[in-house]
Amino acid sequence: MHHFHYRDNHMFCEDVPVSDIAENTGTPFYLYSHATLSHHFVTFQKAFEGVPHLICFSVKSNSNLAVLRLFCDLGSGLDIVSGGELFRGLQAGMPPDRIVYSGVGKREDEIEYALQSGILMFNIESFQELELINRCAARLNKKASIALRVNPDVDPGTHPYISTGLRQNKFGLDMKSAAEACRLAADFSHVEVVGISCHIGSQVTEVAPFVDALHRIKELIMTLEASGISISYLNIGGGLGITYDRESPPHPNEYGRAISDALGESSLTLILEPGRVIVGNAGILVTKVLYTKKGKSKDFVIVDAAMNDLVRPSFYEAYHAVEPVVRDKKETINADIVGPICESGDFLAKDRNIQYVEAGDLLVVMSAGAYGFTMSSNYNSRPRIPEIMVKEDKFHIVRARESHEDLIKGESIPPFL
Ligand SMILES: *Cc1c(COP(=O)(O)O)cnc(C)c1O
Repeated sequence: MHHFHYRDNHMFCEDVPVSDIAENTGTPFYLYSHATLSHHFVTFQKAFEGVPHLICFSVKSNSNLAVLRLFCDLGSGLDIVSGGELFRGLQAGMPPDRIVYSGVGKREDEIEYALQSGILMFNIESFQELELINRCAARLNKKASIALRVNPDVDPGTHPYISTGLRQNKFGLDMKSAAEACRLAADFSHVEVVGISCHIGSQVTEVAPFVDALHRIKELIMTLEASGISISYLNIGGGLGITYDRESPPHPNEYGRAISDALGESSLTLILEPGRVIVGNAGILVTKVLYTKKGKSKDFVIVDAAMNDLVRPSFYEAYHAVEPVVRDKKETINADIVGPICESGDFLAKDRNIQYVEAGDLLVVMSAGAYGFTMSSNYNSRPRIPEIMVKEDKFHIVRARESHEDLIKGESIPPFL
């Protein structure tokens, strides 16, 4: 369900014609629907009614301050993976006691920043990290709440780059090591083990791998309790998939039911770290056709957005639907939709049957709200594009387009040149 739809063959975001925004701000740009973001968050939250839980929205999927503020107001917490994301969360007004901190490579300064800020807990991924957090907390005279992130060794059945809960992945500790780390931590003076966490991967389109992972973690928690370590939080991570093309992922209700059932009678508080399922289909990328050209074997539509703006097609061979902003022609063409970057891997879509287009026409890349802007870069010295949020019949630029000056910010030419 989303609020990008056609009225009289013109695409609207809620009550705003997409072409009006393009005229006002220029292209390309990311466009988010406030109603869709809220609806997705509330739907997910309702799916866990009746189970004590905290939703910690995954900041890396969409870290715009306005998006974070919206979820904060709806009761969300955050899952962060860097000091930069912590800064964003706090700037957005998120109470620190709703923030959990994941990631295999937390730096000492980041750990101190998080301890000083008073976050809810660290999801710890190695013995060395455990020791470092204990040392940092001792120095700051604090007690760090921690969860051990386990690698449950379940196959999420997704793209290898976004599967994270297999034995060969760098994430978490295997079950045995996690139990060992918990016992070790019990003897440390400045950490307290309060949870077990996991995150098996992203764009997972079945409930079974989540249920498997949850069962394995429950077993671990029972073993720990038997040895006198009591656990309060079970963090099942994020990873629920969305429909980009023809996938049919479970509805959040089905996911919520499966997880609640697998949890059973329990005094544990669930933590969930959804990203994509909340924001993915709440955002689009709007781009303008610069040129069209006929190749020997196929046609090319060259647009003003590129892989630096949306890297998912190039990086994961991800599919994103491409739609016209104005549906006004019957003829179709078969083409690759490519950007201006000097790489053959710079494409947004391949071999697509789309409505016939000409230079100046607007196209929309659908489902671009997750891992879109956050993965964008300045490659080819392209200023990063604006992010715009629509609410009802108004739009607001929630991140301005970068300027050429922004591109060289912090650079300097040394005196010997
Ligand atoms: C990326 C990530 C998430 C969010 O994943 P989605 O697939 O976007 O739901 C949650 N938790 C952790 C630890 C992550 O790294």
